[in-house]
This record gives sequence, structure tokens and C-alpha cells, in this order.
Amino acid sequence: MQQHTDQYIDGAWRPSLAEARIEVLNPATEELVATVPAGGAADVDAAVAAARAAARSWGRTTREERLAPLGRLCDGLAARRQEIAETVVAELGSPIRFATAVQATLPLTVARSYLDVLAKYEFEEQVGNSTVYAEPAGVVAAVTPWNYPLHQIVAKVVPALAAGCTVVLKPAEYTPLVARLFAELVHDAGFPPGVFNLVTGVGTEAGAALVEHPDVDLVSFTGSTAVGRAIGAAAGRGVKRVALELGGKSANVVLPGADLARAVKANVANVLANSGQTCTAWTRLLVHRDQYEEAVAIAAEAAAGYLPGDPTLPTTRLGPVASASQRDRVRAYITGAVAQGARLVAGGAQAPEGLERGYYVRATVLADVTPGMTVAQEEVFGPVLSILAYRDEEEALEIANGTDYGLAGGVWAADSETAAAFARRMDTGQVDINGARFNPAAPFGGYKSSGVGRELGRHGLAEFLQTKSLQF
Ligand code: NDP
Repeated sequence: MQQHTDQYIDGAWRPSLAEARIEVLNPATEELVATVPAGGAADVDAAVAAARAAARSWGRTTREERLAPLGRLCDGLAARRQEIAETVVAELGSPIRFATAVQATLPLTVARSYLDVLAKYEFEEQVGNSTVYAEPAGVVAAVTPWNYPLHQIVAKVVPALAAGCTVVLKPAEYTPLVARLFAELVHDAGFPPGVFNLVTGVGTEAGAALVEHPDVDLVSFTGSTAVGRAIGAAAGRGVKRVALELGGKSANVVLPGADLARAVKANVANVLANSGQTCTAWTRLLVHRDQYEEAVAIAAEAAAGYLPGDPTLPTTRLGPVASASQRDRVRAYITGAVAQGARLVAGGAQAPEGLERGYYVRATVLADVTPGMTVAQEEVFGPVLSILAYRDEEEALEIANGTDYGLAGGVWAADSETAAAFARRMDTGQVDINGARFNPAAPFGGYKSSGVGRELGRHGLAEFLQTKSLQF
């Protein structure tokens, strides 16, 4: 068991000023993996002071001076990929195959994409008699969740550093170990002291102290909509820039003429990946009522192939969820859906057989879900698929757009033009046409209550810049 007592502040590991500790539990075994400091306002003050002190000189570096350590950071992410995957298995419970292919690889892809974005970014433009400069926003507070713990760190910290900002990171309390590993990589890459700082702690203390801190210029948050609203309000009070990546309730719409079996199987795989703890997950499958029972049967059969099990085994496709409270919450959604009239066709709220320990939830498919049900409106964040029927395209669109969220989605049709025409009418930030793959350079972010701002690619870098005009 690892016992950590330090925070990464001003270029070194320093003893935390907090006595309290966070216990990191393995979600598959419920065993204690590590303890880390539950930092408070004093650690946050020290980290923000270091970030402030470094902001001016780092903000004036050339792009080449920033590209060099960023390149070394990418090398480190590549070299320690296996260790990253194993850390995410231990603290989050992602199956090792998924952890290697996604949790450890996506951050590397995203970090590398910023070498290219930074090399090409236009920091200066001429507008009439003005020269317009894109300048770093200053000191960034990055507050991240546990579901893709390293990806969400990289998607904020790397573009912030590329833009010339300095950063204080407060990672999720369930997944501080991969954040500590990231701090080691930043250190080894040779960034100047204070440019990146890490404070582990709980959201209501370290997180709140960080977002409220008067010396923070920009807050970048990913997590629940409830906390996002509070952080947006705090940022408003401090007149800070804010970027919010929040929840989702994404619809995957299968139009008549699409390859139904392919679309439904892809949806099941999508919603069960990472035990359903994915903000973009297609949690609502919308199928024409003439094809409804066929789709339900395909989904039920596909889900039955995902047996929950030990995430360290390479054959496991469905691991536990992140915590006991997450497990209880997800199971309550399943029970609630059945009470509201949903038909359980796979899985269910009871513990999977033979798995007495660990935060496991069965791969669950709910049919006869109607748009007003709680499970069709709220983010479940577990391995649960709801299947809804529609009468015609207009009703499909109404259902797809009929939640507070608008983060992602999918559309399947006989041809991509038909699918794209439908997708353009969806109130959501990203839509995959006929199962197209994720593009880590495309802008990512929400409409409606799914957030404010965009991450990834050029748009993600722009979030960390502010604009100055000089007139000649
Ligand atoms: P939260 O939104 O509570 O947590 C996200 C991050 O914010 C964590 O680092 C958290 O710290 C921190 N935080 C919490 N409260 C505050 C605060 N008042 N001020 C500053 N920072 C704060 O998400 P949870 O981890 O609790 O997950 C709850 C639900 O949120 C999930 O079930 C899911 O529905 C949704 N969620 C959505 C995500 C998405 O990507 N869309 C990602 C994660 C969760 P700490 O870890 O200590 O709580």
C-alpha cells in the first residue's frame, strides 16, 4: 500500500500542509490501494502562488520553448503507458484491455495532437489598423473527474501549457494516483517550477478553494452538471473565464434503412465501455417502432455477452463501477426504471453472481422506456441502455432533443447524407455518423446543460487564450 504525504508544488514534491488523507480503494476488490493528502486551502494557496509566480515568464516563452518540454511529456506518456493502464485498473476498475487501448493511449494521442496544433497556431492576426494578439489567459484551475482520469487531465493541462498558461490541477478523489504519475511526467519533461502544480483533495475543500481563489484567471472543469453550475457561479462572482464539460444523455438514432444489427451492437458496446461511465455514452437508443422488438432482441443478446469480472484479466470486457456510491446510484436507477414501467431485458439491479466483493453492476438493457421516465432524462453513469421507440423522424428528433443535455450522439441511416441531415437538427455538440470513430482533434463540448466551451484540437487551445488589440 502506497502512503503519499506530498503535493507537487513549484517544481518539487512538498509535504502537504493538510493532516487529512484520502483513501484510494480498488473498486474490484474494495482493498485499500493508497492514501494521498486531502489538501485544503493552505496547499491550494501555495500551489496558486507558485503558478502565479511562474505565469509571466512562462507566458512569454516562444512556441519552440514550449514545444520542447511538451514533446518530452509525450515521450514520457508513451514510455509509461503500461504503468498508466495498470494504475487506472487499480484505482478505477477499467478492464486492462480498455485501460491500455483507451485510458492510457488516448491521452498520448491528444498530447501529441497539441504538438501539431501549437506548431501551426496563429497567435497574431491583422484586422484593419490593428494587430490582434492571442495571449495566455494566465493561471488555470483544472478540476477533473475520475471516469477518464488521465485523458481529462491531458485535455486541459496540455493545451493550457501549450497556450502559455500555468496550471493548478485538482483531480478527482477516486483517481489521484494517475494524476500523481502525470505530475512525475511533467517534472521529468523539464517544465520550469510552478508551471504545473498538483493538489490532491476533495472537491468541496481543495476544489472549492481553488475555483474561488482570487489569483486564478480561468477555471476548466469536467464533471457533473450539478457541480458545474456551482463552479460556473463561483467563476462568475470572481469574473473568471470558465469552461465546463458536463454530463450527457446522448441519443443514438437508428433511421429506417440503416444496418439495424450493426447500429444496435455498436450501441451496446458504446454504452458498456468503461462500465457506462462515459459522458458521451449513447444511453438512449432510438429505434422506429416497426423495428423495435428486433432491436430489443439484438441488444439483449449483445449485452448478455458482457459478464462483469476481474478487470486485471485481459478477457474481461465489463469491470466494476468506480465506487460503492456509484454502484448504489446505478442500481437505484435500474430499480426506479422498472417501477416506472420499463421492461428489463438484460441485467438488472441485483449483484452479479459470484461477485460478492467489488462495485459490480450487470450489463443492463431496458426496453419500453418512454421519454418522460427518469432513466431517459438523467445521467445514470453506469452500464445501462434505454431503448425508446419512435413513430417518425419528427418524433425521433423531438425525443433526441428532449433532455436538458446535448453532449454527443449518433445517427445511422442508409447513407451518410440522410444521417447528416438529421444530425444537423440535433441540439448536441458532436454526432457520429454511421458509427464513425472518435476524432481527438475535433472540438468537443456541450450544448445546453452539457457545458460551456470546447476542448481538444485548435478549439481546445483557444479556450486558454485571451485577445489583445494594438492599433497603429
Ligand atoms: P463531480 O462533478 O462531483 O466531480 C468532478 C470533480 O469536481 C472532482 O474532482 C470533484 O472532487 C470536484 N468537485 C466536487 N465538488 C466540487 C466543488 N464544490 N468545487 C470544486 N470542485 C468540486 O462528479 P462525481 O465524481 O461526484 O460524479 C457524480 C456524477 O457526475 C456521476 O455519477 C456522473 O453522473 C457525473 N459525472 C459526469 C462526468 C462527465 O464527464 N460528464 C464525469 C464525472 C461525473 P471530488 O472527486 O473530491 O468529489
